[in-house]
Amino acid sequence: MSQHFTPISTLGEFGLIQRLSDRLADIPRSPDLIEGIGDDAAVYRAGEGILHVITTDALIEGVHFDRTFIPMSFLGYKAISVNVSDVVAMNARPMYATVTLGIPRNMSVEMLDSLYDGMRAACKKYGMELVGGDTSTSHALYLSITVIGEVAERDVVFRRGANVGDFLCVTGDVGGAYAGLKILLDQRQALKDMGDDYEPDLEAHQYVIQRQLRPNARLDMIDAFKKAGIRPTSMIDISDGIASEIHHISTKSGVGATVRIPALPFDPETRAVADQFMDDIDAYALFGGEDYELLFTVDPSQAELVDGLEGCSVIGNIEEATKGIRAYSPDTGLLPLHPAGYQHFDPDEDNPDNFGLPESKHIL
Ligand code: ADP
Ligand code: MG
Repeated sequence: MSQHFTPISTLGEFGLIQRLSDRLADIPRSPDLIEGIGDDAAVYRAGEGILHVITTDALIEGVHFDRTFIPMSFLGYKAISVNVSDVVAMNARPMYATVTLGIPRNMSVEMLDSLYDGMRAACKKYGMELVGGDTSTSHALYLSITVIGEVAERDVVFRRGANVGDFLCVTGDVGGAYAGLKILLDQRQALKDMGDDYEPDLEAHQYVIQRQLRPNARLDMIDAFKKAGIRPTSMIDISDGIASEIHHISTKSGVGATVRIPALPFDPETRAVADQFMDDIDAYALFGGEDYELLFTVDPSQAELVDGLEGCSVIGNIEEATKGIRAYSPDTGLLPLHPAGYQHFDPDEDNPDNFGLPESKHIL
C-alpha cells in the first residue's frame, strides 16, 4: 500500500483551515450555534436576545515574537489584546479569558510574574477577568489564550454582511505596527554591527514600537459606534493587513471592493519610518498587519456619521463581486489587490508576483 503525503504549503493556512473544517462537517449542529469556523470568533445563543462569542489565539516564541525584543509584561498585554481584538470585531465585549502556558526551562518566576502583570493590566483595561488556564513545560515560550465575550443579538456584526454600495472604513491609523517592527529589526542589526559603539535610537519611534509590542484592541471604538448610532454591516480586525482582511470580508459577503490608497490613515511617525527606509508606506498598511484596528463597512446612509466620528476614516467602497478587490490611486489607477498579508504555510511564498513587503514579516 503506498502512502501519499501532501505538504501543507500546497493548501496554505486558509486552505488548511477549510480542509480541517470540512472534516468536522458531519457533527450535528446545535440550533444555538449562529457562526462556527470562519469569522473572527464563533457565536452562539446564550439566552433570550443574548449571544456569546468565543475566540482563541496563540503567541509562540520564534514565530510571533522574539523574547529579546519584547518585555514580558508587554507580551502578556499583547496576548490579551490580540484576542480581545477578535471579540471586538464581532461588536462584542470581552468577559472571561483562560490562558495556556508552555514554559521553557530557561525562564524565571520573575519573568512569569511580569508576564502576568501585563495580562492583569490588559484585563483591567478591557474590563474582563482571567478565570483559568493550563501550565506545562515546552521548548519555546507558548501562550494560548481563549476569550469569551457577549453581545446583544441585535448588535452582532459578522464578516458576511457587506452590501454593494456600502462604504469601507477603518479605525485609527494603519501600518504603525509594521513600522515598529522595522525599527526593532534595524536596531538589532545596528547592535550586531556596532557592538560596543551601539547607541539605541528609539526615542523618535516610541509610538510605532508601542504599536508593535503593546497593541490595544479597539473596544473603545465599538462604544463610540454605539454612541454615534453607527451600525457596521460587516467587520473584521486587522491582524494580517488590510489587503488580506478585505478579501475575507469580500469572500464571506460575496462582494468586491475598491480601497482608495490616498485615503489610508497614517501616523506621522509611521510616515517618518517609511521615508527613512525608502519604503512604500501603503504596503505597510495593506500587507503589514498587526495593527489590530477595525476594518468595517457601513450603509451609505451612515457615511456622514463615520466622517463625523474622530478616529474613523472612509477608505473605499463595496462593489459587485465581478469587479474583484482593487486598489485605486491617482498614479496607478485601478489595480487588483492581492491578499499578500502574512499567511502561515504561504503557498505563494516564492512567487515573485506575490508582491508584498520588502522582507519577511517574521520578527526573527
Ligand atoms: P483571526 O485572524 O481572526 O484570528 P484566523 O485566520 O486565525 O482568524 O482563523 C479564521 C477562522 O478559522 C476562525 O473562525 C478560527 O476559529 C478558525 N480556525 C483557525 N484555525 C483552526 C483550526 N486549527 N481548527 C478549527 N478552526 C480553526
Ligand atoms: Mg481576526
